[in-house]
Amino acid sequence: MHMINISVEREREPVTDFDLSPEELELRREAARVAADLYEAPAQEWDRERMTFPNEERRRLGELGYLGIALPELYGGAGAPVMDALIVLEEFAKVCRPAAFQVFESNTGPAQVVAQLGTEAQKVEYLPAVIKGEASMAVAISEPDHGSAATDMRTKGVRDGDYIRVSGTKRWVSNAGHAELYLLYVRLSDEPGARGVGGLIVERDTPGISFGAPERLMGFRGIPSCDIYFDDVLVPGRNVLVQPGEFSKLFRAFSLERLGNSTVSLAIAQAALDRSLDYVRTRKQFGKPLIQFQSVQGTLADMIVQVDAARMLVYRAARKAGRGLPDSLEVSVAKRAANEAGKTVSDLAVQLHGGNGYTEEYGIERLHRDAHGWAIAGGTPTMQRIRIVSEKTGLRFDQRA
Ligand SMILES: Cc1cc2nc3c(=O)[nH]c(=O)nc-3n(C[C@H](O)[C@H](O)[C@H](O)COP(=O)(O)OP(=O)(O)OC[C@H]3O[C@@H](n4cnc5c(N)ncnc54)[C@H](O)[C@@H]3O)c2cc1C
Repeated sequence: MHMINISVEREREPVTDFDLSPEELELRREAARVAADLYEAPAQEWDRERMTFPNEERRRLGELGYLGIALPELYGGAGAPVMDALIVLEEFAKVCRPAAFQVFESNTGPAQVVAQLGTEAQKVEYLPAVIKGEASMAVAISEPDHGSAATDMRTKGVRDGDYIRVSGTKRWVSNAGHAELYLLYVRLSDEPGARGVGGLIVERDTPGISFGAPERLMGFRGIPSCDIYFDDVLVPGRNVLVQPGEFSKLFRAFSLERLGNSTVSLAIAQAALDRSLDYVRTRKQFGKPLIQFQSVQGTLADMIVQVDAARMLVYRAARKAGRGLPDSLEVSVAKRAANEAGKTVSDLAVQLHGGNGYTEEYGIERLHRDAHGWAIAGGTPTMQRIRIVSEKTGLRFDQRA
């Protein structure tokens, strides 16, 4: 019987290297080692028990420098290109999404929006704590009746002396209740739609803020989520991050969060593929390893194509971003590809693992549950498809007409 030569196959340069430099490959090796050492074991328990990623671990990530990779040196970060942050994010996301979420939020999420758009005083006040892991910042956009149509949001902020008085409800906020800081998207003028929306930095312990019951999500466990209620909350005027009329700035900065999201989906797809490649070499049926069956090879090939395509699209957007913001069209293309790859490849991995894929023990079903969550977060793949055609053609498609 012809057997494959596993050692030769493993020697091939993995396509995941793409155009990474020796320094980037070293960064990736180190991040993979740290993620495996610290988080591979507890990740399963945090998921099973729906435990929140501990604050002391967040501080540890800060001490290791992983929370400030792409944030300015002036505030304690490394000032490195976005690509470096994504390399680390991917390695953490392969083994433990709750740990990866911290790297994601600080390097590509709301803290980056503060770094990109904030005043000097805002940066000095908030970024050092986030970079050290002493605080984290969550983003509150969605509302009970306004998800994809986020710019229809009703949460409102009205000027009241030196303050903005905020009332409304936000939903699905990842890390809600746990995060000390929030980037709140809020209606700051009577202009309709996006024109009236701005951004505020809000501290969790401000009087008038309360949190709903924890959501029991299909995946995304270890990352708490709940409603946030704002009841006449007085936010200092100096905490206005983006004025109404400047939504496009806010949105452009949000494209970095979408690129981070795409990277987590890519990581899920890559992990599902890697683990499937190992499994089908050792699991035997009908007297030979599963990988010997042609239809299994076809399934693996489809998985490889999706992972490689997603990686190239994520890297394209990341390389062009450099130390700044990515192109929003490239990000929508990457997010649509990576989100679908995450869902499909992890689904095929469950299939290839048979009954074992359906157990918690193997962690494959966890990849699949998380893949669905990351695809919905940050704007669904369907909404990305609408954006892709709109940005590519320059046409605007009014979803309300
Ligand atoms: C795990 C997770 C984490 C999240 N984290 C955050 C967070 O930290 N902060 C935050 O603010 N929000 C967060 N969200 C919310 C997320 O951004 C929204 O769930 C998402 O934008 C979709 O909104 P919705 O759930 O209201 O679905 P809906 O907008 O009601 O959409 C339902 C379905 O209809 C489709 N649809 C909607 N409009 C159209 C259209 N015009 N054309 C075709 N199809 C359409 C959608 O694609 C989707 O398939 C999170 C969600 C999840 C699941």
